[in-house]
Amino acid sequence: MGVCMAEVRSLSAFRKAKHKKQAAGNTLCKSGHHKWREDKTTTFDSKEGRLVTKYVCERCGKSKVKAL
Ligand SMILES: [Zn+2]
Repeated sequence: MGVCMAEVRSLSAFRKAKHKKQAAGNTLCKSGHHKWREDKTTTFDSKEGRLVTKYVCERCGKSKVKAL
């Protein structure tokens, strides 16, 4: 994916130390397989000027937006 792996690794290690209870199951998240759940609040992306749907990962809390 061309991502700086050293940076990603140190960040996930930091998160693991901070949220030890949530560590179980997060191996999938680390691999990029998040458990996306649609957030009920539909947001408006002011930059793109269109409606987007927000998704939140049930396991790690990561969020992403997807254009409708
Ligand atoms: Zn996740």
